[in-house]
Amino acid sequence: MNVRGSDGYFSSFGLGWLPMVLWIGVDDTDSLQGMCTTFLATELVSELTDDYDLIGYPRLVRLNPNIPWKTRGNGAISIRVGKGRGAIQTLGGIRGRPVRSHLRGDSPSDVTEVVERVARCVERLSRFDDPTTNPAFVVLNKPAAPSLYWKAVRGVVGQRTALAAVRGKATIRRYKSGRGVIGACAATAWRPRDRTYEVLTYRHPDRWGTERWIDRDSVIQMDRRFPSTFNNYDYENDRVVIAPHSPCPVLFGIRGDDPSELPAAMATVKGEVPDRWLIFETNQGTDDHVSPHSAPQAGTTVRIRGNVRLSPRVLPGGHVVLRIGDMDATAYEPSKQFRTLVKALGVGDRVQAIGAVRKLPWTLNIEKLNVVSLALVQKKVGNPWCARCLRRAKSMGHERGYRCPGCRARFPTSAGTFVRVERKLEPGWYEPPVGSRRHLSKPLKRMRREEAEALAASSRAGERPRLVRRDLVGLRDLGLGTAARSARRLSRPAP
Ligand SMILES: [Zn+2]
Repeated sequence: MNVRGSDGYFSSFGLGWLPMVLWIGVDDTDSLQGMCTTFLATELVSELTDDYDLIGYPRLVRLNPNIPWKTRGNGAISIRVGKGRGAIQTLGGIRGRPVRSHLRGDSPSDVTEVVERVARCVERLSRFDDPTTNPAFVVLNKPAAPSLYWKAVRGVVGQRTALAAVRGKATIRRYKSGRGVIGACAATAWRPRDRTYEVLTYRHPDRWGTERWIDRDSVIQMDRRFPSTFNNYDYENDRVVIAPHSPCPVLFGIRGDDPSELPAAMATVKGEVPDRWLIFETNQGTDDHVSPHSAPQAGTTVRIRGNVRLSPRVLPGGHVVLRIGDMDATAYEPSKQFRTLVKALGVGDRVQAIGAVRKLPWTLNIEKLNVVSLALVQKKVGNPWCARCLRRAKSMGHERGYRCPGCRARFPTSAGTFVRVERKLEPGWYEPPVGSRRHLSKPLKRMRREEAEALAASSRAGERPRLVRRDLVGLRDLGLGTAARSARRLSRPAP
């Protein structure tokens, strides 16, 4: 399932963890004012590969996006080093020098030296001045148990839990409050069930903090030429999404399912020349943060199903709220055109929503929505007809029926003439525009791809085509395609 991508790349890594290499996890070194933990990863790679081999891909592991003290992506990194064996692959370039990685490796004998080098890097590049930055790193000869990753991506983990998960196999350095140790350990605990890749490019240090120069048309061209990539360009809002807006060293990042296409995709983007680039294996776009069965709890991301019980209402600020079952669900203003879809829902529609649970106000912040079925909506176009007097009856008030003004005959409310109202949406999945999605949210583009792969696999096996994950499409076979089209149609601003 996780084997996606070409043979030349380490796509068959699904072995889980690799024995006999050193696992390094780092987190919480950056701040909103600059720097970036992935940049630190490139420095670490550069520093360590003088004497050691990089094993597999560096990893960028996003953790629970709802952690209150995290204002940004909540991403930790992990890299593996050792004495390389097996196939070699180029995963990046730092100032003209290629970054090579091995498929497998053995543990280096001088662990202390590795620890000292990581410490130097973390101490040099962490933003100690920022009060909310609390760096930490771990060096392990065995990765942390996978349960730590699942807790950290879906819930809230304390330092004690993180430390317990690596007891006996770790060298740990914590700075300031040391909170980064949670992400550092959790990053090593990730055993991908699903994975994507991101090639990150970085700016020359002279340019940090200045405006980025990226040619818009080349980003659109790249997006169309490389269908295995996603979240590149927001066509609905005409916006380049691959580049951050913070003063951090990142020039741009391209996400995709096939790592072998990323270098070519990167080369298609015109503009500022990157100083370095590196491909990360990541849990972005996997929906790993969605708790499968748990009841809504503040700070978690859940899936709720139910009927729309109260019609959508627009709050000051442009947020749209509707009641699903007994829970309010909100499409916030930053979700832009997605709100048009939410506004088109009505009482009785059956939906499934994925979103983060907010405590105040108690609501589900909708990330993605599946319209399972639509209620029949009717509009009254005429009063009942009295066949005896050949005239229309008159209403006796709201829900009180009708009476013929001639013969005084009575008619129930339901006797009026109704027509079916054409709905402005159809069943299927919908998501916010590219620029308004969360790092961990699985884009519909990936869901469709998985569906297509599953269908192809079952037809190759001679089975009757069936949907492997029923919940993905709700009612209709491959209804996703239609839904995504209609989402675009719905959300395009009026000319
Ligand atoms: Zn009558």
